Amino acid sequence: MDLNLQICGRTLAEWIVQFPILEDIGALKEVTWANPAKKPTATALAGCPLTMADIQDASDRLERFADYFQTVFPETQAYGGILESPVQAIPAMKKLLEEEAGTAIPGNLLVKLDSHLPISGSIKARGGIYEVLKTAEDIALEHGLLRKGDPYRVFDTPPFHELFSKYSIAVGSTGNLGLSIGIMSAKLGFQVTVHMSADARQWKKDLLRSKGVTVMEYPSDYSVAVAQGRKEAEGNPYCHFVDDENSQTLFLGYSVAALRLKKQLEEAGVAVDKEHPLFVYLPCGVGGGPGGVAFGIKLVFGDAAHCFFAEPTHSCCMLLGLATGLNSEICVQDLGIDNKTIADGLAVGRASSFVGRVLSPFLSGCYSLEDQRMYRMLAQLTDTQGLRLEPSALAGMYGPVLLAKSPVFSGYLAQNSIAPAQLSQSTQLVWATGGSMVPPDEMDRYYAKGKALIEA
Ligand SMILES: *Cc1c(COP(=O)(O)O)cnc(C)c1O
Repeated sequence: MDLNLQICGRTLAEWIVQFPILEDIGALKEVTWANPAKKPTATALAGCPLTMADIQDASDRLERFADYFQTVFPETQAYGGILESPVQAIPAMKKLLEEEAGTAIPGNLLVKLDSHLPISGSIKARGGIYEVLKTAEDIALEHGLLRKGDPYRVFDTPPFHELFSKYSIAVGSTGNLGLSIGIMSAKLGFQVTVHMSADARQWKKDLLRSKGVTVMEYPSDYSVAVAQGRKEAEGNPYCHFVDDENSQTLFLGYSVAALRLKKQLEEAGVAVDKEHPLFVYLPCGVGGGPGGVAFGIKLVFGDAAHCFFAEPTHSCCMLLGLATGLNSEICVQDLGIDNKTIADGLAVGRASSFVGRVLSPFLSGCYSLEDQRMYRMLAQLTDTQGLRLEPSALAGMYGPVLLAKSPVFSGYLAQNSIAPAQLSQSTQLVWATGGSMVPPDEMDRYYAKGKALIEA
């Protein structure tokens, strides 16, 4: 750590004096942070540029495309062409976490399996696919090819493929966003280039190439891959760049999850209100995915919902940006951190400033955790519940444990007047963000690593 490093007109040493948590972050310790800027939902909304109408608009667009999905991805027929994932209780995992932590986890422990979303097997199937669809719809309307009332299966006809073949889509990714954008864009007939960071797994690149996607590889991290994609698209009106660091469209695609979660919880008889608070733990990379989902959840459930972001100790960029108020003006590398983690979906060193700004008054807090903990929970979840997730997707699983035992989060509960009686009636929802498409042998290696750590 270079204490003389200048960040926004002050030295790192000065920033540490003002925000002592930076010391622990720099030392790669696991930290918990409650957000002092959180506001009542109504107040937060009053200052927010996005509203429920924007989420509804995105939801309506996805419904228009349901007809298309049923045509081109038959596996979506069972759900009427709506890409959605199940919510389920994980009581055996809860018991194991409690035994290990030596403390009871309050309420009911549920998992949201975005790991099992159709088409690309991760949370990126929400935002990524949505932005490609919106781009296709905009182009089709602009060219008069799509008329009001047309069934959207027309997107799977030669005139549409031909039109889209004149356009290209570019994106920078650590893997899963590239997978979602690549698969969807290729299906519609777009030319598509995915700029992959060094973290991206080989199988993701192979899969994309098999679908005709151009995959560019960089030896550097996510920020560089994104910058390359942005550069390629610059000045080319026929190229749409999906900007993971700034895209409002991606964000809204993710946010639709909340409308559907509300229905799922109602159907399952799970109440969410002041007496039955909902705690949600979301793995965070650049912030768009968890940010969009958390934003939707706050708009749907209001003050009864409490959202926390989870990041690897080596890549806790959102925590860093929010805790200092510097947002994207600070990155983990500024603290001498390498941004290297097994949680490839979270390997981001500098957070989205757009998401930081929008989410700041809505978010309850953040925490960081070590890779080894993700590996261990990966094996434990397989053993207890038969669920196989990628390492990133386990980051949220530590949240309920921290809520039960971290002094910082106890302080949060007290400050928000959440009494033990309410907490015992709460729902603890862990957002599992990816994994169903990981090749079995790769998953076996993750599992073996987790088992070895548990037995060590
Ligand atoms: C991308 C990703 C995340 C985080 O989403 P961001 O938009 O980068 O914050 C979490 N989990 C998995 C598996 C991912 O691929």
